[in-house]
Amino acid sequence: MSNKKPSLDVAVIGAGFAGLYMLHKLRAMGFRTRVFEAADDVGGTWYWNRYPGARCDVESMQYSYSFSEDLQQEWTWTERFATQPEILRYINHVADRFGLRSDIQFKTRIDAARFDEGGSFWRLTTGGGESIDASYCIMATGCLSNARIPDLRGLADFRGAIFHTGSWPHEGVDFAGKRVGVIGTGSSGIQVIPEMAKQAKHLYVFQRTPNFTVPARNAPLTQSEVANWKGNYAEHRRFAREATRSGTIYDFAKTSALLASEEERAHEYSARWKKGGANFMHAFNDLLTDERANDTAAEFVRERIREIVKDPTLAEALSPRDYPIFTKRICVDTDYYETFNRPNVSLINLRKTPIETIVENGARTAESLIELDAIIFATGFDAITGALDAIDISGREGKQLREKWRSGPRSYLGLMSAGFPNLFTVTGPGSPSVLSNVIVSIEQHVDWIADCLEHLRSRNLAFIEPTVSAEDRWVEHVNEVANSTLYPRAASWYMGANIPGKARVFMPYIGVDKYRQICRDVVSAGYDGFILAPNASSLQPSMTNPLQIETNFD
Ligand code: NAP
Repeated sequence: MSNKKPSLDVAVIGAGFAGLYMLHKLRAMGFRTRVFEAADDVGGTWYWNRYPGARCDVESMQYSYSFSEDLQQEWTWTERFATQPEILRYINHVADRFGLRSDIQFKTRIDAARFDEGGSFWRLTTGGGESIDASYCIMATGCLSNARIPDLRGLADFRGAIFHTGSWPHEGVDFAGKRVGVIGTGSSGIQVIPEMAKQAKHLYVFQRTPNFTVPARNAPLTQSEVANWKGNYAEHRRFAREATRSGTIYDFAKTSALLASEEERAHEYSARWKKGGANFMHAFNDLLTDERANDTAAEFVRERIREIVKDPTLAEALSPRDYPIFTKRICVDTDYYETFNRPNVSLINLRKTPIETIVENGARTAESLIELDAIIFATGFDAITGALDAIDISGREGKQLREKWRSGPRSYLGLMSAGFPNLFTVTGPGSPSVLSNVIVSIEQHVDWIADCLEHLRSRNLAFIEPTVSAEDRWVEHVNEVANSTLYPRAASWYMGANIPGKARVFMPYIGVDKYRQICRDVVSAGYDGFILAPNASSLQPSMTNPLQIETNFD
């Protein structure tokens, strides 16, 4: 074994919200840390998703870091739901304020990460062929960062322009006078469609599955709203972290939809619809667990669609019917359904008339040729595991992570995976990640990982890896929790269902409050379920530690 120390203590991949906070934290603790980022600047998802209409669907006062009181007091959000440019300005402000750029290597894509068992460090290889060695490797690669264009027949023949919402040109695009097709009606499609309808000569919306969306009712934030948040930030943040399943504060109902009368339900749903935002999904406490309760919310939204969209056939085509509401990420829109009343907007219902082929001047469906100057793919991402799978990660005995995860990701707490010592994932599969206010989850993971590295350093331990049995128990628990809800009933990207051939496994953990407690319990029980060792040779393949107390997840 080589005694040469790797040049870095910690390599962090990705300079979005997760990577920046990780760097800030570890650098302050004296770890030699460097961040590697494929883009030429910070921002992660907010760097890439610059499409017209891009906005966060978590309210801006909650969608921000809490780690610095000065930061949260000095930054002022202008709107209830921040636009992509405003969020990117915020991330840039954070990078500058904490002097982070000097330790970020931009325009550097990591292609491979291999655990070098002889030397017991991680060796990263960049797209440019550079090698970097680090004792610890932290994947801050994001859950929705691997944009995906479906393999449509004839796409290469198309002579017009092709875009993906998740990788939008920085210089912006002028669609005036153009015939534009948007494929996809998830959160991105639902945001870009109303904007595109205002710009394009004619907009064709290619819809496979209609989506439920609720109005944002976005508005400028008033001084008193901002003051209320800033004056009570500590308590608001504590409540979001410790007392909510989502890490976001909503007006959580405590009663069942089925115990309310029809009038009471209508009143509650209407009030929330008027107020706007994803608060709608918390109108009753059984909407995600009881199908009959769920149906009442779904029918309320379908009624609104019929009310807004003038053409009844079109309204029906826009009405979701084949999965429970909220089991795919609820969309939050501005004038989405209204957009279909415009004369320059047509809905192409792919369920009835699928695209047979793309041709040089448009899309040919079973019914007609739709001539297009541009196609915008709002077709989503290889979510949660895609960005990790894109890196050739190999752990002990040369085992590849993507091979290990072929039938679905296996991790302990969404933080580490057995066979991959000293490799951490921020908001990895098996953690609340995308089913939470992701910044709340990022901060928790970053703090947990930083504490763990300090624990190892202070005890002259250099290695950490979960046991296979702890991982098995965790994967089982994640599934048990999911199966007690309606979530697995939708063919969603949470299930990997949007990627042909991907294993259908529910990937995120439901419940921020409970999850945080479990993570704390694991640490209190002496890193229950992990092996901590002074050298790599003490890490044994299927080792379980019979002396350890098993943390009770239930
Ligand atoms: P998405 O939710 O996966 O939606 C993709 C859309 O493309 C779906 O309508 C899907 O139809 C359609 N599609 C995929 N392949 C297709 C094909 N071959 N032919 C026709 N249609 C196809 O992706 P997204 O809208 O980018 O959103 C992903 C996630 O990013 C969101 O759920 C959210 O978590 C996040 N996001 C958040 C915001 C926000 O904060 N406001 C904005 C954008 C994104 P099917 O349903 O039939 O598969």
